[in-house]
Amino acid sequence: MNILLSNDDGYLAPGIRTLAAALRQWQGARQVVVMAPDRNRSAASNALTLSNPLRMQEVEPGVFSVNGTPTDCVHLGINGAIDFQADMVISGINAGANMGDDVLYSGTVAAATEGRFLGKPSLAVSLVGDTYFDTAAHWTLRILQGLDELALEASTILNVNVPDRPLEAIRGIRVTRLGRRHRSEPVVCDRDPRGLPIYWIGPAGAAADDAEGTDFHAVAAGYVSITPLQIDLTHYRLKERMQSWVQML
Ligand code: MN
Repeated sequence: MNILLSNDDGYLAPGIRTLAAALRQWQGARQVVVMAPDRNRSAASNALTLSNPLRMQEVEPGVFSVNGTPTDCVHLGINGAIDFQADMVISGINAGANMGDDVLYSGTVAAATEGRFLGKPSLAVSLVGDTYFDTAAHWTLRILQGLDELALEASTILNVNVPDRPLEAIRGIRVTRLGRRHRSEPVVCDRDPRGLPIYWIGPAGAAADDAEGTDFHAVAAGYVSITPLQIDLTHYRLKERMQSWVQML
């Protein structure tokens, strides 16, 4: 299997370096190419750069840095910028959780999403912290080794969140659904040194739906969380009700 590895924390981030090293040791991987942003692009979501040219630099053999978003990186990696036939896209290991509503903003999940062009499942991996990247790398390999058995349909994204603990402190793995967060903390208003107003997006809200079965619940209980995601955002139930409603318009 040829793996395209990306992230949103940038090609120098410890998470992607740990995972790249682990994948290169894994006998299931034929070739591993890293294609990642040149800097931290967390919360870039699925942005594509259309108004500027992208530049790509091979900073070491098989490691490419791109002055673009995570989605740009994966797009270049699988759509003609390099001579490489990826079989799968893996994104991570992100430093920080991508659970519940996070997946809408996440560049980590977006990089995996862009892998849908391959018609193969993609994997997004996040560590709920920034210490035990080895634990997340270990579980990523375990999941990869089992993927053949799962025979996933095309364009599925597996969103994995790993508690930030030593390997032996992980209690196992749970299949979960996305929970939900409260609205994020208020915007932080301040002044720059010239007295002009500036604004910071506040920190993410706490979990609002962390019931049993959610990603939040599994991770808090010490389990690796794995959530299958799909791209179709259609609200099918409402669509049914709207059929008669549009007749009234
Ligand atoms: Mn990130």
